[in-house]
Amino acid sequence: TVPGRLHERPAPSNAPYLDARRPVRERVEDLLKRMTLDDKLGQMTQAERGGATPQDVTTYRLGSILSGGGSVPAENTPQGWADMVDGYQRGALASPLRIPMIYGADAVHGHNNVYGATIFPHNIGLGATRDPRLVQRIGRAVAEEVAGTGVQWTFAPCLCVARNDRWGRTYESFGEVPELPSAMTTEIVGFQGRRLGSGPASILATAKHYVGDGGTTGGKDQGDTQVSEAELRKIHLPPFREAVRRGVGSVMISYSSWNGVKMHGNKYLITDVLKGELGFKGFVVSDYNGIDQIGGGTPGLTPERVTAAVNAGIDMFMQPWDWKQFIDMLRGEVANGHVPMSRIDDANRRILTVKFQMGLFEHPFADRSFQRTFGSDQHRALARRAVAESQVVLKNAGNVLPLSRSAGKIFVAGKNADDIGNQTGGWTLTWQGSSGPITKGTTILQGIRQAVRPGTSVTYSKDGTGIDRSYKVAVAVVGETPYAEYMGDRPDGMGLDDQDLSTLANLRASGVPVVVVLVSGRPLDIAAQLPQWNGLVESWLPGTEGQGVADVLFGTVRPTGRLPVSWPRSASQEPVNRGDGKSPLFPYGFGLTYRH
Ligand code: BGC
Repeated sequence: TVPGRLHERPAPSNAPYLDARRPVRERVEDLLKRMTLDDKLGQMTQAERGGATPQDVTTYRLGSILSGGGSVPAENTPQGWADMVDGYQRGALASPLRIPMIYGADAVHGHNNVYGATIFPHNIGLGATRDPRLVQRIGRAVAEEVAGTGVQWTFAPCLCVARNDRWGRTYESFGEVPELPSAMTTEIVGFQGRRLGSGPASILATAKHYVGDGGTTGGKDQGDTQVSEAELRKIHLPPFREAVRRGVGSVMISYSSWNGVKMHGNKYLITDVLKGELGFKGFVVSDYNGIDQIGGGTPGLTPERVTAAVNAGIDMFMQPWDWKQFIDMLRGEVANGHVPMSRIDDANRRILTVKFQMGLFEHPFADRSFQRTFGSDQHRALARRAVAESQVVLKNAGNVLPLSRSAGKIFVAGKNADDIGNQTGGWTLTWQGSSGPITKGTTILQGIRQAVRPGTSVTYSKDGTGIDRSYKVAVAVVGETPYAEYMGDRPDGMGLDDQDLSTLANLRASGVPVVVVLVSGRPLDIAAQLPQWNGLVESWLPGTEGQGVADVLFGTVRPTGRLPVSWPRSASQEPVNRGDGKSPLFPYGFGLTYRH
């Protein structure tokens, strides 16, 4: 129900909250006292683009809209996005108090829902670079591409500490030890600027998923992290402490549980630890339908779960499709006294403070001037450098690497050699990602072709057939195909698939030396095949700039990447992490370079 709002009058244009010269705190308090309960409930609500119209934003006073993975406008261009987002903003500004909405999307390795964006390596590759300054520059580049489309908020960076590579989100992690995600919180500074709202193209960052998402038993996505509080604080909390120190404006709660209790209902960790002890002053957002699992049992929205989540300290609710029911339930829980008004006001203060700090009231619409940076040569050059820095050379028998750019004949094979979709992985155009020419970019094969000198030929065959003894070297680009979240959990092992094994067998039969390039979101089971390979390079999920892989293969860039995770002998050895006394195939930090 939408209660009558006839008593509401638009705020006078000289209202203190509309005056940008006043301190944020004063503006927030002035606005808050003008807001009705419905304004406040709407402000705490985030709906999915496909589930709410601009008119809904006006009517229900929605505080935020998101494009969950792959939810794109009809015209998937920067222009199409900006028009779409601005349409929602006009809806927000048509309400009596003219409070701008904030539009969120998962720009987790570039503005990855938008066709033609620069796609950077997924976090695990960035962890391999050990280069926080590079990651900060990437954050800035992504912020520019995002800002041009009107989107003001990215659900990144993921600060998970991935402790078990069976987990389908391992590639969203900078690494298995807290030091790596902590160091890479520089990306937050890239996204937001030194302060939220300082400088152009400052977008809101999200530290996610609070807390312990990477520590679940068996690496099960949305599972249970069974560790002591001391262990939770030692392994999983530090990156969030660092993110808060760097001024991150929002934190997203994890789907996972801590010792059987769903994080979305954990008041101790959200209110006492995050907001109290860590001093987090921004707002807390739930994950997609995340409150539906509180307390276990059949997932779904109930008044009890709404109350548990709000009282635990969540401020904004990502209830993409059932946001109307959410608002109604929350109104009921306020009316019956289960949720105190002080909590509603606190949530609104936090959200509005961020919106004022960002300058959204003054600049609610897309800054289209940034569209010129979208997929630009500069951004692609930065991504190429990141790809090169992220390559980890794991084996180089007889110095088969670097390859000579005038080697004569080079044979390239494998399902990931000439496939932009496979090399970008999940969270690219769609939630799960997909194989094929899904966006603009340079494949690894194209990168190799560009690298060789005239007179050197590159022959490609996907399955490795057609090779003979006339080739100097064979490069096999194999590994994983795209997945995201629980779809990528591998409880039954992490070996190469039959297609890859048959490609490799075809190459091996020729007797030509083989260099394997693995395109994968995590270590795979390769111990049995490794002795047959002369060289091995882990490329992770490099993104759109395949030349960065070629840069390292040909030695134009000296390899410096180092493993951000321990590489198990087999999946059955998981979990295997730095300093746990197990003997992995390659230890954390391993990575070869070339002698010159
Ligand atoms: C993921 C989040 C993501 C959200 C919005 C959820 O399924 O867990 O990481 O930000 O969807 O797309």
